[in-house]
Amino acid sequence: MPVLPNVLSALADGSVEIVDLTAPLSETTPVLQLPPPFANTIPFRLEEISRYDDRGPGWYWNDIHTGEHTGTHLDAPIHWVTGKDREGADVSQVALRKLIAPAVVLDFSDEVGKSPDFLLEIDHVRAWTREHGDLPDGGWLLYRTGWDTRSHDQAQFLNADETGPHTPGISVECATWLADEAPVIGLGVETVGTDAGTAHSFDPAFPCHTFVLGAGKYGLTQLQNLAQLPPTGAVLLTAPLPIVGGSGSPTRVLALVER
Ligand code: MN
Repeated sequence: MPVLPNVLSALADGSVEIVDLTAPLSETTPVLQLPPPFANTIPFRLEEISRYDDRGPGWYWNDIHTGEHTGTHLDAPIHWVTGKDREGADVSQVALRKLIAPAVVLDFSDEVGKSPDFLLEIDHVRAWTREHGDLPDGGWLLYRTGWDTRSHDQAQFLNADETGPHTPGISVECATWLADEAPVIGLGVETVGTDAGTAHSFDPAFPCHTFVLGAGKYGLTQLQNLAQLPPTGAVLLTAPLPIVGGSGSPTRVLALVER
């Protein structure tokens, strides 16, 4: 019995819904802002080549200016120094099997509503697995924080004050555990990066990048619409551009959900 016709009919009759987890890409898409002396990425921008005019009377097209880590995007292991020597760790080399994978959603939006510096701990994940079952082997842990409601506004999204950015993340212990013990292939977040806004001051700094990418796993950032996913059972289609040697890529992320 072939499977794909059943998938197509389920999509046609709505018993499987497609949820877009991708933020629109435009000049106003928030981008990370590192403090001096570090270099920063550019905002997304279209540069018009022609628009049914003298430069090309019958056609419209643009060049795009973007960083690899702009908008909804995938962090490949070589993004971080701890993953730089891994084989097959650039964004063009992600195994296809990992680009279609199960996902679970851990919802901590209430906690983050009380404190934007909320950190996910191992005990939070263990409490979730007692209720919902194990994390998916070869799948994604999607960390819902409600932060996607801020994604239309750079200042709200980065939420920085004189002490730096304040956005939710993951503790050092939990990042180590996700990297080395959890069966997942990666972590997806709604914030500008997988690490907390205050993670520059952790020991080590940026533990999610350090440990998760160092373990050959992946990060997915600036996701939205996680509220439309069930805690378990979604399947993620993750489509980074195969940028040869790239450390990441803007990525279309779609979820298939049984209704
Ligand atoms: Mn990134």
